[in-house]
Amino acid sequence: MITLNAVTKHYNEGRPNEVQALRGIDLSIAKNEITVLKGPSGSGKTTLLSIIGCMARPTSGRVFLNGEAVSGLPERFQTELRRTSFGFVFQRFNLIRGLSVLENVMLPAAPLGEPNTQVRARAMERLASLDLGDKALMPVEHLSGGETQRAAIARALINDAPILIADEPTANLDTALADRFLGLLGQLRAEGRTIVMTSHDPRIWAAEAVDTVIEMRDGQLAGAQS
Ligand code: ADP
Ligand code: MG
Repeated sequence: MITLNAVTKHYNEGRPNEVQALRGIDLSIAKNEITVLKGPSGSGKTTLLSIIGCMARPTSGRVFLNGEAVSGLPERFQTELRRTSFGFVFQRFNLIRGLSVLENVMLPAAPLGEPNTQVRARAMERLASLDLGDKALMPVEHLSGGETQRAAIARALINDAPILIADEPTANLDTALADRFLGLLGQLRAEGRTIVMTSHDPRIWAAEAVDTVIEMRDGQLAGAQS
């Protein structure tokens, strides 16, 4: 579904503080599987995830989505792709303070022009399935860590995108919530979605729902295992 060919990413290119965050990544991500990237801090996981999700462009190399080269597309096509193909859960969640949980969850649907009542109904369904139905009208800043994380997941799912991208989604969850998150991932896979996430958490690597764990080291793949 997603293929990377010889992808590199250099930050601050040509300057003394240049960083080679990715050094030639060849990778195939299978449709309808859960793939987890692991590796030490600074090994390039977030950078790789942002390239997979078309949020950043590689310095060199190519990215294919369903066989189509996407890394060289003009910005407006990439923006469209991000909206229709990907849902994102960011490491710091990036929910907007001052807006309610429901408003935050509905936000990514706004540019698509679907009737408000329809989006709202879907948002409420997602929130209920994540046990946040009774928090929908609360400002997001009143949520606990685990609730914030689930609100971010609900937001990532609002456009029914086929691919969910999540950066350390369980970092703030206790064991029970992490288990629930894994159950949710299994459910999303059963719905036909593809999930790519990073995680430090050995419980995630070992989880039955996870199909492939890919280890990164110093901007390269340390070896893929299934
Ligand atoms: P990880 O998610 O595995 O911790 P990152 O992809 O965040 O790794 O970072 C990989 C390397 O790239 C690190 O050395 C980091 O400092 C550097 N880096 C990440 N983002 C930027 C940026 N925007 N500008 C400069 N360097 C960056
Ligand atoms: Mg990271």
